[in-house]
Order: sequence, then C-alpha cells, then structure tokens
Amino acid sequence: MASYVAAIDQGTTSTRTMIFDHSGQVVASEQREHKQIFPKAGWVEHDAEEIWANTRATAAGALANADLTASEIAAVGITNQRETTLVWDRKTGKPVYNAIVWQDTRTDRIIEELGALGGGQERYRDKTGLPLATYFSGPKIKWILDNVEGARERAEKGDLLFGNMDTWLLWNMTGGVDGGIHVTDPTNASRTLLMDLDTLSWNPDIAADMGIPMSMLPEIRSSSETYATTRERGSLRGVPIAGILGDQQAATFGQACLSVGEAKNTYGTGNFVLLNTGTEKVMSQNGLLTTVCYKLGTKDPVFALEGSIAVTGSLVQWLRDNLKMIDSAAEIEEHARTVDSNGGAYIVPAFSGLFAPYWRSDARGALVGLTRYVNKGHLCRAVLEATAFQSREVIDAMNADSGVPLKSLKVDGGMVVNDLLMQFQADILGVPVIRPKVNETTALGAAYAAGLAVGFWAGEDDIRNNWAEDKRWEPNMDEARREREYRNWKKAVTKTFDWVT
Ligand code: ADP
Repeated sequence: MASYVAAIDQGTTSTRTMIFDHSGQVVASEQREHKQIFPKAGWVEHDAEEIWANTRATAAGALANADLTASEIAAVGITNQRETTLVWDRKTGKPVYNAIVWQDTRTDRIIEELGALGGGQERYRDKTGLPLATYFSGPKIKWILDNVEGARERAEKGDLLFGNMDTWLLWNMTGGVDGGIHVTDPTNASRTLLMDLDTLSWNPDIAADMGIPMSMLPEIRSSSETYATTRERGSLRGVPIAGILGDQQAATFGQACLSVGEAKNTYGTGNFVLLNTGTEKVMSQNGLLTTVCYKLGTKDPVFALEGSIAVTGSLVQWLRDNLKMIDSAAEIEEHARTVDSNGGAYIVPAFSGLFAPYWRSDARGALVGLTRYVNKGHLCRAVLEATAFQSREVIDAMNADSGVPLKSLKVDGGMVVNDLLMQFQADILGVPVIRPKVNETTALGAAYAAGLAVGFWAGEDDIRNNWAEDKRWEPNMDEARREREYRNWKKAVTKTFDWVT
C-alpha cells in the first residue's frame, strides 16, 4: 500500500508539489516561482506554459527529495489560485492568451456594462452568491473572446477551452491534446460568476449575457473523487488524481474547519477568511461572498461565507520591490519593532480596488495621517497593521451575517511567521489567534481531498485528529485604544474612494 499522498499547489507567485504522510506531516516539497507579468497599470498575467513546466519540475523534484517513486503515492490532489483565467486550443494545447490573474482589473468596463443590463452589482448575486466584480473569471473569459483576434469564432466552433489553473493542469496531466479530461470542481466553478449555487451547474443565461459558448466550460465534478490517472510521461505517471479544491477552500479543509461556525484566515498575497456554514448557503447582507467550501464525492455540498482581501502580503512585497525600504519580507518586523505605534499613519492598499466588504473597483491606495514625525518604523507598522485591520473588517461582516461572533481565529499562510502582526491581529479582533503545527494548510487540504477519495484517510475525523496547535496569541490591548485605532482605519478607507472615474 502506498504510504503517501501528493499535492500540487499552483499559487499566485509559485507552484509547489508537497508530499504528506498519513499523519499529515510534510515529507518533501519542491517549489518554483513564475513570472508576474504587468503589461499595464491594473493588468496582471501569468504564462500558463511556464506554470505547467514548473508543475512537472516540482513533482519530479519533490519525489526525488524524498527518494520516492510514483508507486508509493496513493493519490494526488490539485489546489490552485482561483479565478485566474486561461483559454486554450483543444487541438494544439496552446493558450490563446496569457492567463489573466485574479488581481487584474481590466474587466472594469465589462463589469459596468453587465450591471447596466439591470440589477447593477447585484445582478448575479442570487444565482452565484457573488457581486459583479473584476475579480471573477467569467468577465475575464469575455475579455479574451472580445480582444484576441479570431478567438470568438474559434470558441463558437468548439475549438477553445476555458479553465482555471486546476483545469489546465488536470487536462495536461491526463494527456492534453491526446485525450486530456476537461474537468473542474465546484469550489473553482463557484468563482466564475457562471455557476448556479443551487444546482452546481453552469448557468446558460449568465453565459449568454457574457457571450461565452457553453462548449468552452469544463465539466463540474466533486472536489474529492478519482477523475483519472496521470498519463503524462512525468514522474507522477499512473497516480490517481483524486482531489481538486480552490486554494482558500483547500486551506479551510486543511485547517480542519469541517463544522459549522469554524473559520480560518490565510495570510498570503492577499487574505481570505472563510467561515464554514455547513450545507446551508448563507447569503451575505454585509459584502461577503457565498461560495462552495467543498463537495466530497456524492455527499451534499458544504458552503462558506468568504471575506476576500486583495492586498496584504503583496503590500509587503511592494515595500520591498517598489519602494526598496526593506531587503526581505522578514525584515519588516525588525523595523516595525523600533516603534510602539503607527505614529498616526495608515496605509490602505486598494491597489486592485477594494474587495470585501466594499467591492469598490474605483478605489486606489491611500497613505494618510502623515506628519513630520512619521518614520520608516511607523510605515512598516502601518503596512502590517493594514492586513490586520482589513481582516477585522471582514470578520465584523461575518459576525453580522452569521449572528454568532467568532470566538477564535485559525490562521495560516506566509505572513503568520510575523509575531508582531499576529499579536496585533489578536489585539484588534479581541479574540485569540491560533496557528497550527502544519502551516502548509493549502497543500494539505488538497492532499486530504485526494486521500479521502482513495481511502488513504478513512474520514473527516482523521483530518480533525491530525490538526495540532503550534502557537496562540491572546488579545492584549485595551478596548478604548482598539476602537480608536479601528475608527481611524475606517476613516482612512474612505479616502480611497472615487479615484477611477
Ligand atoms: P501565496 O500563497 O499567496 O503566494 P504565501 O502564503 O507564500 O503566498 O505568502 C507570501 C506572502 O507573505 C508574501 O506576500 C510576503 O510578502 C509575505 N511575507 C513573507 N514573510 C513575511 C514576514 N516575515 N512578514 C510579513 N510578511 C511576510
């Protein structure tokens, strides 16, 4: 019996393959970064062929690092950056355009036009759980069909396929032009603005609004079942591919948020808070998304409320790469520790507009509260605090929607090594913040989905039992200061509105 499960984690900045054992511990991993392509202000693209090459290389690398062969891998799961949109030719296997990344705002005009058909930003909310926003895949597909020469005719002839990165990798792993399967799962499909949440199937009326031929859309299967075995000549040949979860849903699964009322916050390029609402789909009154959390085989789907924040860790990158104020992301904490407050400065990183709970594509970033007193330490603090304030806003919205205030928050992702940020998060929320021993929850969640499908793990209790606490931060800020800081933040947010008209 194979003793391990592999996960391919196709993220915004890099692709990793990780191998886990039965206790959910990481046995090996390999990672490759890919190019971030910024052709114009507000545009972000990835080279999908580079990502596929990186996927193969990391799969081979992870197996080699652990000295394993494919026969020792029981199953492989895929998790991916959601919404990022690719259209390719089913006969040649070539993308017709770079992948348009979730942060990209080029579809703002398309969004306006669709809203003007009636219903405005809420036009598709009842069916899809989502507001109309540049974030989601459907309008990005429309942009490609409208702007790439000949694409619409080829799509109408049935020659073009759409997929998020899960679908692109699965199609390639199962043979590509030579019989690759064109499949996705409901967590990814629920981010396109094209899927009906009640039936978990594509909605032909919305596809028609966007001029998207149904033949382009992948088949929606569950998040945990054997879709096929890998056929490419790579190192994972012959392994069942048995799980697909969008990255944030995968992290929710990997954090064992498997019961109603459990929530996690992932601190990566952006931040994403997901609250498990069980088999009930809760419609937000407060600017959150309703999304599929997971669907295991033939079981009923489980839903989540989600607060998506576009820019958190990427603000740290911006400080490093654009302003050159720090040499590495880790260095920010050192500077932030030289002061004990933000000195009155607030940075609202509305680089891609504002996502939850505002959904304002007209917003752009603001740095406010400056005086001659403010120094580098204060700015570094303000950058970290921006992540915590934005998280508080979506958690407040979640508490209002669910009527049950969160008692503690599980956290994961690249920024949770930052002690100052985690303490400030607990302070500004007023509840404990808890980090698990295995921080690679995204890859772990995809491994769990795949491992459950092939019987490597018996059931959800295995996942709950594997979860273990590493560190906890207790709130330690007086109420008056907490609320004063938060009020200032809210005022700063209002300064970002109406920049793009
Ligand atoms: P993703 O999966 O979205 O690519 P990760 O979970 O790998 O992202 O997190 C990377 C992000 O975390 C980067 O945006 C980086 O700026 C940020 N980061 C990494 N280390 C630190 C740190 N010590 N303090 C603050 N931010 C950090």
